[in-house]
Amino acid sequence: MNACIIDGKAVAAALRTRLADQVATLPFTPRLVVVLVGDDPASTVYVRAKDRAANAVGITANTIRLPADTSEAALIARIEHLNADPSVDGILVQLPLPAQIGTQAVIEAIDPAKDVDGFHPLNAGRLASGNPGLVPCTPAGVMLLLAQAGVTLAGARAVVLGRSTIVGRPVAALLLAAHATVTIAHSRTRDLAAECRRADIVIAAVGKPELVRGDWIAHGATVIDVGVNRLPDGRLVGDVAFGEAVSVAGAITPVPGGVGPMTIACLLQNTLEAALRRREA
Ligand code: NAP
Repeated sequence: MNACIIDGKAVAAALRTRLADQVATLPFTPRLVVVLVGDDPASTVYVRAKDRAANAVGITANTIRLPADTSEAALIARIEHLNADPSVDGILVQLPLPAQIGTQAVIEAIDPAKDVDGFHPLNAGRLASGNPGLVPCTPAGVMLLLAQAGVTLAGARAVVLGRSTIVGRPVAALLLAAHATVTIAHSRTRDLAAECRRADIVIAAVGKPELVRGDWIAHGATVIDVGVNRLPDGRLVGDVAFGEAVSVAGAITPVPGGVGPMTIACLLQNTLEAALRRREA
């Protein structure tokens, strides 16, 4: 029997509708500012998509475009200006940044209360210590997909493939907070297949096309594929060999149409949350 396909597009659309309804009841309009340095084509497309999605739910989105040769000091000065601007609820600096700019210094310059990407060390620390804060968008989306699939997390064995600060680590922290027993695997893990076979839940966030084979998946396990990989023939595939895994897993996300659509929806959710928290504070 084939796995249930978890439809990220539908879950994201439902979340956007809920957010639009909530924003419509507010006596103010939340505001997101995206900072784009340079003209990397993929980043330009992402920023435009974020802008459109925000406007569609009633969040004001502005993009600040800076030239590719902007210095780190100049970018940080812009961020400090946005930190101090009371009309700004969320600040997102589109990554990757040009080589002359230190990414970590930029992330740390953002006011943690406006850090809608959830990458600031204060928010990462809050997540790691099980305290409320702004959670990175893709990991938050993964958790919503697991909830949508009706997966029981408490006591489940979860394996997270990948330990990046953007996906792997925060996903692992969220699963742990939901009482799963979590293993984090990475490029030095001795037997990745064996780690996966023991898991009730596999989260793949590695960036290696179809690394996870069907016979790595336990019968009935839930598979969330975060990977986005472009093959030489132009096809987009995940980190999981979907065609193999779909006949073994209990539930699985496709690529595209799984985790991808959740990321921007969760960014909007974070912007709303930041806006509400700032007004409560
Ligand atoms: P990343 O920073 O490159 O991290 C990749 C992680 O995978 C690292 O921890 C690395 O281990 C591990 N890894 C690499 N090769 C491995 C192997 N052969 N076996 C086991 N582990 C291995 O990537 P990322 O930013 O987390 O992104 C991961 C994937 O998710 C990418 O395909 C990316 O495009 C996708 N992504 C999708 C979304 C979305 O919205 N859908 C958002 C973000 C990312 P080490 O730490 O040992 O090097």
